[in-house]
Amino acid sequence: MKIIVANWKMNGDLELVAKFIKEINLVRTENTVVVCPPAALITSFSDFRYHIGAQNCSCEDCGAFTGENSPKLLKSLGCRYVIIGHSERRTLFNETNESVYKKWEAIVRNGMSPIVCIGETSEERSSWKETISNQLKPFIGKQIDSTIVAYEPVWSIGTGQIPEISEITDVLTFVRDLLKTNTKLLYGGSVNSKNAPSILNNADGVLVGGASLKSAEFSKIIQGAD
Ligand code: PEP
Repeated sequence: MKIIVANWKMNGDLELVAKFIKEINLVRTENTVVVCPPAALITSFSDFRYHIGAQNCSCEDCGAFTGENSPKLLKSLGCRYVIIGHSERRTLFNETNESVYKKWEAIVRNGMSPIVCIGETSEERSSWKETISNQLKPFIGKQIDSTIVAYEPVWSIGTGQIPEISEITDVLTFVRDLLKTNTKLLYGGSVNSKNAPSILNNADGVLVGGASLKSAEFSKIIQGAD
């Protein structure tokens, strides 16, 4: 069973949601498909055949936290998954390994599955083991069966460059050895319908950014996973 996650980032509108639902609902798969739209669009996915996730959430359930998204509310809106620790959140919004862990606790507490993003920058490429060990340190030895880890090399996101399949396999094996659990391990970074099949042969799934905004392309990625 593969997991195919769409991360729309801060893109999309009601028109795209309608087109996406119409086209993706026609695609049949036994694999798990998750769409993570901007929070304001979550409720417009009520007719969607597959799962909905969020791109981020607060570590608090409710309270005086203007502008934050409550994990408790996301759960009540039907979200099953929440992406945390995306490199854009780490870089642009100062998220740290510690704050990612607090969000992880809130997501698990509310009965959803966290999708924890990890990955090295281009400067860290030769020392990726150190970066990834630091990012995963809070999770080592914890009960993380419902957690999904997405390896997203920062230098690959939105650039069209992807690592060699052997490099992806090396990182996922390293993560598996570190966590010592059956956590599902995804790859993300410039995934498209052409490269997805070989990646999916070597990972439990993919996290798709740009290519998930084109429903025809995303359909092909889903179909290529069967
Ligand atoms: C992402 O940012 O999660 C991502 C995978 O982006 P892209 O597919 O556009 O590289």
